[in-house]
Amino acid sequence: MPDTRAAIDELSKVVKDIPEAVEIYLALGNLYRAQGEIERAAQIRNSLILRPGLAPETKARALYELGRDFSRGGFLDRAVSAFEKAAEIEGDSPEIITELAEIAARSREFERAASYYSSLHMPVQEAHYLACQAEDEFNNGEEAKAGRTLSKALKVYLQSPEAWLLKLTRLKKQGSLDDFAGVFRDAVASVPTKLRFVIIEGLLAESLVFGDTVKVVNDQGQERNLPFYEVMVEEISKSDPDVIMHYYGARLLQFCGREQEAGIWLEKTLMLNQDFWLARLELFGIAQSEQKLTPSFKNQLDFFVNIARKVQRFTCSSCGIKRDRIFFVCPRCRSWHSITFRKELNQ
Ligand SMILES: [Zn+2]
Repeated sequence: MPDTRAAIDELSKVVKDIPEAVEIYLALGNLYRAQGEIERAAQIRNSLILRPGLAPETKARALYELGRDFSRGGFLDRAVSAFEKAAEIEGDSPEIITELAEIAARSREFERAASYYSSLHMPVQEAHYLACQAEDEFNNGEEAKAGRTLSKALKVYLQSPEAWLLKLTRLKKQGSLDDFAGVFRDAVASVPTKLRFVIIEGLLAESLVFGDTVKVVNDQGQERNLPFYEVMVEEISKSDPDVIMHYYGARLLQFCGREQEAGIWLEKTLMLNQDFWLARLELFGIAQSEQKLTPSFKNQLDFFVNIARKVQRFTCSSCGIKRDRIFFVCPRCRSWHSITFRKELNQ
C-alpha cells in the first residue's frame, strides 16, 4: 500500500511542528503500527514523550501506545517497561493490565497472566491460564501442585471446558476409570451445553490440551481407550438429548466396534436435526459397507466422501473462521469460547 504510506508520511510532516496536534500525532502512530511499521510508530510516541511541558495524561497515553507498538512488534520487554511507566503516571488502568496479561500469556508466564485476569474480574480467562499453568506443572512432574492449580481454576470458573478437559485427560492417562466416570458426569453437567463437545473432541485428540500436537491414534492406544469411550457413551445416554452429543456418542460407539448401536444413535441425531450433515455422512458410510459396488463406482464415491471428510467441523461464532481442531481463543478475532460445531454445512 504505497499510497497509504505516502499519505501518512505527508501528514506526519504537516503536524510535526504543531504542538496542539497531539491527537493527530497519536493517531498517526497507530496508522504506522497498523501498517506494521513499528519503528516509525515508536519514533512518533518517543518524540511526543520527550516534548517539554507535555500534560501527564498525554504522556501516559503516549507511553501506553508505545507499549502496544512494542507488543505488536514482539519486543515484549520494552512493551512491559512502557506500560509500567504509563501505570506510574495514571495508575493500573484496565487497558494496561489487559495488555500486561496478554504479554504474560504470550511469554508462557501463565500464573502471572491468571493473576492479571483475576484483578480484571475476568474468570473465563483466569481459569484458562490457571489450566495452562496446571498442564505445565503436570508435565514437570509436579502432580500435587498441578492438582491444586486445577482445583483453583474450577473454583474460579466452574464452567471452564479447559479445566475439565485437562482433569479428564489426566485421569484417562492414569487409567483411573471410576474417577473418570464421575468427573465426566460433573463436566457434562457444568460446561455450557454449546461447549460440551469440546471436552469429547479434546479427549479423542489424544494430545496436550493446550498443545498443538497432531492427532496420533495407534491401535494399541485405541484398545486402552475403549473402556473410557464406553463410560462416556453411558453418561451421554443419561443426559438430555442433544444433537452434537448424540453424534459423538455414535462416534464413540463406532470406535468400540458397536456399529449397529452407532447407527441407531445417528438416526436419533437426524431426528433431532435433519440437516446435520456429519450424521448423514456416517450413516452413508455404514450403508455403503452393506452394498456391493463395482470398483469404478466405489472409486468415484470414495472421492466425494474423502472431500466431505475434510470439511472443517468447527467455526468461530464471532468471525466465522473455520478449523478442524478445537480452540479456546479464536486464532483470528481473539474471541473467547466462541467455537461452535458446524451442524449444518452452510454454517
Ligand atoms: Zn473469531
